[in-house]
Amino acid sequence: VAGEFEIIEQYFSQQQLNRSDVVLGQGDDCAIVSVPLGQEVAISTDTVVAGTHFLETANPKWVAHKALASNISDLSAMGAVPAWVSMAISLPNPDEKWLHDFCEGFYPLANAHNLQLIGGDTTRGPLSITLTIQGLVPTGEALLRSGAQVGDHLFVSGVLGDSHAGLEVILDESKRSLPCASTLEKRHYMAESRSELGVVLRSLASSCIDISDGLISDIKHIMKRSQVGALIYVDQIPVSDELIRYCSKGEAAWKYALQSGEEYELCFSVPPEKIDELHKAVEQKGMRITKIGEITQNQDLRLFNHNQLLQSQSQGFDHFRESL
Ligand code: ADP
Ligand code: MG
Repeated sequence: VAGEFEIIEQYFSQQQLNRSDVVLGQGDDCAIVSVPLGQEVAISTDTVVAGTHFLETANPKWVAHKALASNISDLSAMGAVPAWVSMAISLPNPDEKWLHDFCEGFYPLANAHNLQLIGGDTTRGPLSITLTIQGLVPTGEALLRSGAQVGDHLFVSGVLGDSHAGLEVILDESKRSLPCASTLEKRHYMAESRSELGVVLRSLASSCIDISDGLISDIKHIMKRSQVGALIYVDQIPVSDELIRYCSKGEAAWKYALQSGEEYELCFSVPPEKIDELHKAVEQKGMRITKIGEITQNQDLRLFNHNQLLQSQSQGFDHFRESL
């Protein structure tokens, strides 16, 4: 059985990527990086625990992807570009096959974002992975949750709801026979983060957040930080064809979309005078964004379905969730 040092040596020290701003990677007591002039460092940490965030039996490749994508997504939401990551991993017993497959999920995604693993810690214990990611953003240009203004338009990227439906499939065997169940399951683990879009939004969005807890929950963070309200047209929320097929009635799809977390799409507000520029910028890059609502004055969240008020509420997300 491989020991701690063999595991580090074999799985966590060997990668092709070699950023020029990494002065010292693994092997000493600390890693050392240099920050380019005019840039700030955005830092975020996320943990995934077996039994809480993924099943012990889940495909290790997907687990790695999910752990890393959620971290990259936090940087994207701030308009920061991934640079370095450290990994604290706790393993019950060194399972070489598991580690091998884990790395097959981790490195391709890291490399695709020019993100270098610069250090970490490897211990024995219940299966969990904590990543601390660091990214670069031009000084003063980070996208915050706090800048939304009354009258701004509210957008989301991509489609919403697949991840939530996928989780349902993972947790409930009986859903496996529904149309597109396995596609949605895979999407739960393999959700893409929106790094490129975050960069585009730096000069356009007034606020931004990544959808990690669900649209309803996350939009409330923007409302609270920006001291504004919001309205959402649920019939405008973009959903995938697979989700529509999975839901027996098309209408139910937006319910998944409202609650879906761990999806890593961005939700952002844009002032009316920048909408044209926004559409031009995203079209050029082939990115999908959809207007789903507006920022309003009174600090509550109102949901409309085909112009009919569904819900209005000022607080208590959990109550809201149950009532859907
Ligand atoms: P220390 O005793 O100083 O904490 P370790 O023996 O824990 O050092 O780690 C040795 C080297 O391997 C360090 O540079 C550390 O950053 C790196 N390392 C350990 N675990 C990981 C991991 N899971 N991923 C990446 N690097 C790791
Ligand atoms: Mg250590």
